[in-house]
Amino acid sequence: MYDVNAIRRDFPILSREVNGKPLVYLDNGASAQKPQVVIDAITKGYAEEYANVHRGLHYLSNLATEKYEGVRGIIARFLGVKDEEEIVYTTGTTMGINLVAYGWAMPNLEPGDEIVLSVMEHHANIVPWHFLRERQGAVIKWVDVDSTGWLDPQKVIDAIGPRTKLVAVTHCSNVLGSIVDVRAICDGARAKGVPVLVDGSQAAVHMPVNVAEIGCDFYAVTGHKLYGPSASGAIWISRKRMDEMRPFMGGGDMIREVTRDSVTYNDPPMKFEAGTPGIVQQIGLGVALEYMMGLGMTNIAAHEASLRDYARARLDGLNWVQVQGTTRDKAAIFSFTLDGAGHAHDISTILDKRGVAVRAGQHCAGPLMDHLGLNATCRASFGLYNTTEEVDVLVDALELAHELLG
Ligand code: PLP
Repeated sequence: MYDVNAIRRDFPILSREVNGKPLVYLDNGASAQKPQVVIDAITKGYAEEYANVHRGLHYLSNLATEKYEGVRGIIARFLGVKDEEEIVYTTGTTMGINLVAYGWAMPNLEPGDEIVLSVMEHHANIVPWHFLRERQGAVIKWVDVDSTGWLDPQKVIDAIGPRTKLVAVTHCSNVLGSIVDVRAICDGARAKGVPVLVDGSQAAVHMPVNVAEIGCDFYAVTGHKLYGPSASGAIWISRKRMDEMRPFMGGGDMIREVTRDSVTYNDPPMKFEAGTPGIVQQIGLGVALEYMMGLGMTNIAAHEASLRDYARARLDGLNWVQVQGTTRDKAAIFSFTLDGAGHAHDISTILDKRGVAVRAGQHCAGPLMDHLGLNATCRASFGLYNTTEEVDVLVDALELAHELLG
């Protein structure tokens, strides 16, 4: 049984107060809180087991290397990947997508080649492609979502033309919560011989992910949203695409031999991991993923689906709240504005006084905000430890905001 109250006790920060009220943390879309097991792993990593990895022949270096490298297998299991050498460590999804842009796309794209994006992408899955547009004449083709925030996979497939070299699409919108049928997109793209990069930064937090079933070529995840440390993460890259990539960052660890005149590279994945990595962060990520898998990704998804349905019903009951993104298949992420009320920042400031943490602004999604015709929204994003009682606190706080600002 999914005992949310017991789970909450695993997260020490959830028992604190903010502005004299119990914390209601609904900013999981930005970053999630950490369970005690992750905090303990970080403390132990520094207090008892710290040394640099891959270098030393001494006890601590070997221990740190073993723990750090052991996480690759955990991430592989989490993403349904058979070969853990297809997992490249990153500091998060931004780094993963930049690695693909610099390592795979730059050497493989000619001027006029196209990259297909949805309008719902986070800037992390837009700006690296603008680099290619600016620097080597790539063309970005945009696919819109409908009025409910649903992305029609067929529209993405139809946008793939003879010059398309990559489809890069989110699995779940960080603003609307819309889940994208990436499997259908991959089926259609594969039939046209075009690789697909999936931004799994949000989706992997909320539902079971199996990259083999999705059929994509690249899948990026974010450690700090997966209840792990900041600056941890990974990208899965299929062997075929890894073989087509050149290294992005140069430095220690990614080389086999360096002379005055030449350099040869390490085998993947280390070929793409230059310099001293986030050793303890990555070890903490392994613990966080074990924690999530221990709860069960299907159980987490079911709990969050009931939170989503409850929150949707409560927000629908407030006719002065405009929720953006009403498609049925969505994660428990709600972006909204209040009729007649001030800026999203004012709303979030009032919610904060009630201990409710939400995000306000553009959510790093400029093209989507333009599409919605909005400057900013408030976003309440739920995680595995949130409760229906917290939805009620949010609604009470919104009623106060409406009264004060409306
Ligand atoms: N993609 C999406 C959909 C996101 O929500 C985020 C973070 O908010 C990112 C990418 C960037 O992820 P990271 O913080 O791991 O770089």
